[in-house]
Amino acid sequence: MNSTNTKELNKNSLQYASHCDSEDELALFRQKFHMPVDEAGNELIYFCGNSLGLQPKITSDYLKQELDDWATLGVEGHTDARHPWMPYHEFLTESMAELVGAKPSEVVIMNGLTANLHLMMVSFYRPTSKKYKIVIERDAFPSDKYAVESQLRFHGHDPEDGLILWNPPEGEEICTMEGLEKIMEEEGDEIALIMIGTTNYYSGQHFPLKKITELGHQYDCLVGFDLAHGAGNIQPELHDSGADFAVWCTYKYLNSGPGSLGGCFVHERHAHDRNLNRFAGWWGHNKKTRFNMRHEFDVLPGAEGWQLSNPPILSMAAIRASLDIFKEAGFDRLRKKSLKLTGYLEFLLDELNDERISIITPRNPDERGCQLSIQVKNADKQLHDRLTEAGVISDWREPDVIRVAPVPLYNNFTDVFNFVQRLKNILNP
Ligand SMILES: *Cc1c(COP(=O)(O)O)cnc(C)c1O
Repeated sequence: MNSTNTKELNKNSLQYASHCDSEDELALFRQKFHMPVDEAGNELIYFCGNSLGLQPKITSDYLKQELDDWATLGVEGHTDARHPWMPYHEFLTESMAELVGAKPSEVVIMNGLTANLHLMMVSFYRPTSKKYKIVIERDAFPSDKYAVESQLRFHGHDPEDGLILWNPPEGEEICTMEGLEKIMEEEGDEIALIMIGTTNYYSGQHFPLKKITELGHQYDCLVGFDLAHGAGNIQPELHDSGADFAVWCTYKYLNSGPGSLGGCFVHERHAHDRNLNRFAGWWGHNKKTRFNMRHEFDVLPGAEGWQLSNPPILSMAAIRASLDIFKEAGFDRLRKKSLKLTGYLEFLLDELNDERISIITPRNPDERGCQLSIQVKNADKQLHDRLTEAGVISDWREPDVIRVAPVPLYNNFTDVFNFVQRLKNILNP
């Protein structure tokens, strides 16, 4: 079919959705993933890739390779495995750096996200008695809030006083730069760190990293980001943003399996600063002398210098599988599809024109990734329960939001159409 035909099709129809799928150059990537099914074996509509990404079919082969090498080589696998374990994290660096817009030397895969956040704050939250406050966004992810509060306490500050919330304007759900500017004008002299979760897990709002960083640096604050909902979803251009550090996980949009390792970015301007405080471990030590064991700590330059332990190879194998798929798909093409897919979801939800639901995610596609957050009137959680019964995997976030994330790698336009159809049937039985 040509584009004239698309125009003739009613956008709010299954034919239109399947036509978009037939024109989607990434459509076949869906087949590279295991799609969860119900008890009868029917595929579910999976819109929870923002929480746990689906398993690529190649992942088991990547894991098996390491299991086999372990079985046949034992400890020699550190040097002799097909992908030697000693430098294994290096096999991930380049693709990961590309996905987050960083230089390879600025990126390392290690630990869990929250552990990385603490390690970053050891280096980049260096409060003085006058300048010690931390800014986070309202509705920051709980783990980030706990981490930041515990760092304040660790340095002898009461979070009641030291933690500043960047709130949306009264009665609204979306934070504005004016709001942050006002905080900085009023308290900038006392603020040591701005730490923002971008994209926000609750509202789906994507924050402008560069603007926030420039604002923070203007007030001599360090600036860090949590990209748990950004990595693999939007391109954060970390290096150009000028951010001091960033952390993320790889089990959401990066499809590397439950509890898999996190990522960490340290801007190159800090790469060679040996005076930075840090918690150290042997994997951050000079690779050439690491096994001499008796050397003084000789820190590696770049993000690698923050590593502690020798990493879990099985998790890294899963990350490698996932990154190979991203490379094949190409992030620009994924983002292009994502804009269209989420735009279609937005269009169909608007067409429902039902006052019981409203989208709180920004309407401007540049200010969001693939997720839309649907606010439900009177916090009626039943709506989410009924969706689950109808074969939709989405999630409910207190107090009143259903999050749906059509992921461009494995969701399609037909998923989006069928989802809204099921929602419509629930709203109008
Ligand atoms: C998912 C998520 C986390 C989870 O932290 P882990 O240390 O990986 O368990 C933290 N912060 C944000 C913003 C998240 O979205």
